[in-house]
Amino acid sequence: MTTITRFAPSPTGRLHVGNIRTALHNWLLARKSGGTFILRIDDTDAERSREEYVEAIRADLAWLGLAPDAEARQSARLETYEAAFAALRAAGRVYPAFETAQELDLKRKIALGRGLPPIYDRAALSLSEDEIAAKQAEGIAPHWRFRLDHAERIEWDDGVRGRQVFDAAQLSDPVVRRADGSWLYMLPSAVDDLDMGVTDVLRGEDHVSNTAVQSQIFTALIAARYPDGRTPRFAHEALLVGREGKLSKRLGSLGCDAFRERGIEPEALLALLARLGTSQPIEPIADRATLVKTFDLGTFGRAPAKFDDTELDRLNAGIVHQLDYADVAPRLPEGMDEAGWHAIRPNLATVGEAQEWWRLVTGPVETPPFAPEDAAYLEEAHTTLADLDWSGDIWRDLTAALKERTGRKGKPLFLPLRQALTGRDHGPDMGELLPLIGRERAMRRLARAAG
Ligand code: GLU
Repeated sequence: MTTITRFAPSPTGRLHVGNIRTALHNWLLARKSGGTFILRIDDTDAERSREEYVEAIRADLAWLGLAPDAEARQSARLETYEAAFAALRAAGRVYPAFETAQELDLKRKIALGRGLPPIYDRAALSLSEDEIAAKQAEGIAPHWRFRLDHAERIEWDDGVRGRQVFDAAQLSDPVVRRADGSWLYMLPSAVDDLDMGVTDVLRGEDHVSNTAVQSQIFTALIAARYPDGRTPRFAHEALLVGREGKLSKRLGSLGCDAFRERGIEPEALLALLARLGTSQPIEPIADRATLVKTFDLGTFGRAPAKFDDTELDRLNAGIVHQLDYADVAPRLPEGMDEAGWHAIRPNLATVGEAQEWWRLVTGPVETPPFAPEDAAYLEEAHTTLADLDWSGDIWRDLTAALKERTGRKGKPLFLPLRQALTGRDHGPDMGELLPLIGRERAMRRLARAAG
C-alpha cells in the first residue's frame, strides 16, 4: 500500500513555523516511500477562512519546495460529508441535540463544581421522537453529536508516542455539525482521510484527544460507508516551543515572509525542522534526498522541540556556502559572475550579504591611513604588481615577490595589501578576490594607499 499523507491547514491565517514543520514531515514521510503528499485546505469554517490565506499557503509551500502532489478543499466536498453524515445517521451513530451554548456551559460548571469531569451527559440521547419533533416544530434546529461507543477502550500505536489508550466513557460525544448545518472539524477530516486513502496522519500532539474520538468515527464510517477503508496510522509529534521552553506567541506568527526577509534559505529551515526534536544531528543538509532518506519517526522524542534562531542562522550560513551559482544568480549583485560567487560565498551568512562583499571588488573602497613604513611597502607592491603577469596566480606571485624584496612575512606581508585592496581587515580569500578586482583597480588602490 503506497503511503498517502496530507497536510491540512485551515486558511484562517498564514502558515507559521509549527505548521511548516508539520507540512515538511508529511512531505518527507510521503517522499520516503514514493507516496503521495496531499494539501487539504480545511475551509469548512466559511466565516474565518479567507481566499488570500489559501493562496498564501500555496505560495509558502512553493517557496519551501514542498509542492503537493494533489490538492483538495473541504468547501468543495460538502456533498460527500452530507452522504457520510446520512450513513452515520442511518446507523444511529449521530443524534440531534438542542442544548444552547449557555445550557452546556452550565452543565459543565455543575459537573466541575461536583468534582466530576465535564463530560456531556447525553441528555439529548434520551429525547423521544415526539420531543424531538416538538422542538423542531418550535423552529429550534438541532446540532448533531457523534455517539461514541462508551464500552470500547480506544487504543492505537502512535508513530511517535507509542501505545495510546483512552477510555471512551471519559470523552464527550463530539458535536460534528452545527445547528446551521455547517461542519465542525471532526467528521469531515475523517471522511476525507478515508475517501482519499490517507494511510498516515501525522500532526501535532494537540490533536491526540481528537484522534481518540476520530478513531471511533473512522470505525463507524468504515462500517456505514467505506467498507474498503482503513483507519490510518497516527503519529503525533511534540510541539515546537521557543528557546525559553514555552509556547511562544512569536513562533505562532513566524512564517515564510519573515524568514525570507531575514535571508533564510528554505533549505536551511527544512534542514532544521526535519531534525529538530529528533535524536538525529542537526546539520546544514542542502540535499533533500538525504533528508528524505534519513527521516525516521522512530527518532522523534516526546519532549517539546526547541526552536532556536541562532541555530537557524548557523545552518543558513552552512547552506549558503554550498549553494551553486545557478541557484542564486538572479539574487546576486549586477556583474557578479560564477568566480565572484565562489570567492565570496564562504564569507556569507546570507545571500543578501553578497551585495556588500561585492563592493570590495567593484569599489570604491575606503582605506585607513597607513603608517609610513606600510605606505612605503604598498608603494613597493604597486611597482611590483606593474611588472607581473596576470595570467598566473597573481596573488601568490605578488606576495612571493614582495616577500623576497622586503623580507616581510605573515601578517605584515599580507594585511596591508588586503587593507589597501579591499578596505577591510578580513574577507574572502585574496587569491580569488584579486583577479576579480583586476589589474587596473588594484593598481589604482595600491597607488592611493601608498599616498
Ligand atoms: N485543520 C486542522 C488543523 O489545522 C487539521 C488537523 C489535522 O491534521 O487533522 O489543526
